[in-house]
Amino acid sequence: MTPDYHIHTALCKHASGTMEDYVRQAIKIGLDEIAFTDHIPLPNGFDTAHRMQPKEIESYLHEITRLRNIYPNIKILCGIEADFYDGFEDYLSDFFKWNSFDLVILSVHFVKDWPAENWAFSYSFTNKTQTEIYSDYLQALLRGIRTGLFNIIGHLDLVKSVEQPVLQRNATLVKQILSEAKAQNMAIEINSSGLRREINEPYPAFSFLPLIAEAGLPVTLGSDAHQPEHVGFSFSEIEARLSAFSMIKMAHFQAGKMQLY
Ligand SMILES: [Zn+2]
Ligand SMILES: [Zn+2]
Repeated sequence: MTPDYHIHTALCKHASGTMEDYVRQAIKIGLDEIAFTDHIPLPNGFDTAHRMQPKEIESYLHEITRLRNIYPNIKILCGIEADFYDGFEDYLSDFFKWNSFDLVILSVHFVKDWPAENWAFSYSFTNKTQTEIYSDYLQALLRGIRTGLFNIIGHLDLVKSVEQPVLQRNATLVKQILSEAKAQNMAIEINSSGLRREINEPYPAFSFLPLIAEAGLPVTLGSDAHQPEHVGFSFSEIEARLSAFSMIKMAHFQAGKMQLY
């Protein structure tokens, strides 16, 4: 089975279960590889409500090491879901100098200068079209890619609203993102969490697959688990869709190095 490369922990304050529960669930459903990718701590108290504190990174790493020893039959990677937010580039670059990970997911959860909380998945504008909103988000993602600090693009079209596909409005920018991701040797995550939300499709939507194939990009699968029972969520449905694209390879990571299968 395909590894689950997007798993959270209770350290982020909005996920339940112990890290061991996630490992046991992965074993139960037959996975032989997972990656913990909890939300990275950010500077200046930014969004502390949804992430671990800087000092907690140590216990996160220790627990992964402990679980690797207890469960040698499953490969447990140490990853992190890192936000790209304009102005945090130096912080991130420093953070990755001091802490090394098997894989780093690039996520845009907040778009700088957007109103209120800047959330990429709940916004309200009176002065921007849907295409402009998507463009702001995708441009932020592009700036993240260009830092070269990340391995995987997480939930690429997270910004989408129901019945407002990103690809239909912003195809040129999406193609640019894919081509620059390829140049940076990145992989694209197919994130199944959308399949348990109202949007009812993965991030990115299945309609991205031909473009991912055309760009020669590999993929990873991620459940974005915030509860142990989310591990491997709807992977069989995604694998079935991927089987029509034999040219799309599965990316595996270790110590930041990608291998394709
Ligand atoms: Zn989360
Ligand atoms: Zn995320």
